[in-house]
Amino acid sequence: MSTPSRAPIVALDVGGTAMKGAVLDTLTEVREQRRWETLRDRGPHAVVEQTLAAVDELVSAAPDARAVGLVVPGVVDEDAGVAVHSENIEWHDVEFRRLVTERTGLPVGFGHDVRAGGLAEHELGAARGCDDVLFMPIGTGISGAMYVAGRLVHSPYAGEIGHVHAGFDDPCACGARGCLEAVASGASIARRYRRLGGGTARGAREVLELADAGDPAAATAWRDALDALARVLVTYISVLAPQRIVVGGGVSHAGERLLGPLRERIRAGLVWQREPELVTAALGDEAGCLGAGLLARHALVHCASPDVISTQGR
Ligand SMILES: [Zn+2]
Repeated sequence: MSTPSRAPIVALDVGGTAMKGAVLDTLTEVREQRRWETLRDRGPHAVVEQTLAAVDELVSAAPDARAVGLVVPGVVDEDAGVAVHSENIEWHDVEFRRLVTERTGLPVGFGHDVRAGGLAEHELGAARGCDDVLFMPIGTGISGAMYVAGRLVHSPYAGEIGHVHAGFDDPCACGARGCLEAVASGASIARRYRRLGGGTARGAREVLELADAGDPAAATAWRDALDALARVLVTYISVLAPQRIVVGGGVSHAGERLLGPLRERIRAGLVWQREPELVTAALGDEAGCLGAGLLARHALVHCASPDVISTQGR
C-alpha cells in the first residue's frame, strides 16, 4: 500500500439496524470497537445526528486519529460525498463528507457500505487477487460490489443485483415484482416460508433447519431462493465473467449448505460460460467497517482526489 501503514484511523459503518465503529491502528489491527443500535424509528434527521455523534465519540476515543472513514447504505454518490437516498433510513441528500470534515478537521473517506465491504474483501479477504469478482452480501437485502477488469464499479446506481428479475412474481419493496431480493434475502426467505403455508421463522437459518427436519414449506422456500440466486448469477456470469463470486451477509453463514447446491444450479445453467469459484466472505460483518478504514487511509493520501479508491494498494 502507498498509504501510511500505522496511521490510526476512525471507521464507522452505518447500517439500518446497527452502527459499527472502530479505531484501527493498521489495516488489520483493531484498537477498539463500538456498536450502537441505529435509531431508525426516530426519523432520518435523528440518524444523521447519531452518525455524527458516533464519529465524535470515536475521534474523542482516539485523539491521535489521522483520518475518518464513513460508509452508509442506499444510493451513495462517493465523488460528491453525499448520501443521496436510503429506502431504509429515509434520508435524502446528506452531505456527509462535508459535515464530518467540518466537525473533525480530518480527511474523510466516504462511501457505500457494500462497495466498501467489497473493497475490504478485495484487499484483505476472499476476493484478493481477482480482477473480476462479485462480492454479494445476502442479508436483509441483496446487493453487489462489482470489480470489473481490476476496478471497483463506483456508479451510485450500479450493483443492484437484488433487483434483477429472478423468475418469480413476489412483490419487492422497491415497487417492482419478481426481484431476487423478494425471494432470496434473509427476510424474504422467512416471509415466503410463512406465505407458503409454514409458520413464523426468525430468518433464513431457521427455515433451513425446518427444511432439514422435513417441513415441505421450508424446503420450497429454501429451494426457490437457491433457484432465484442461480438464475441471476448465471446472468451476471454471462455479462461480466467473474473469476470468483464472494457471498457474504447473514445467509452466507449457511456455508456449504448454501454454496454446494448453488454451485450445482449455476453449473447446470452454464453452457459455454466460464464457471467462477463460489466462496463465502472472509471478513464477516466487519467488512463494511474495514472498508471504511481503507477509504479513510486512501483519503489521508488522496484527499484532493477522493475518487482514486479502488485502484490503490494493488
Ligand atoms: Zn426490487
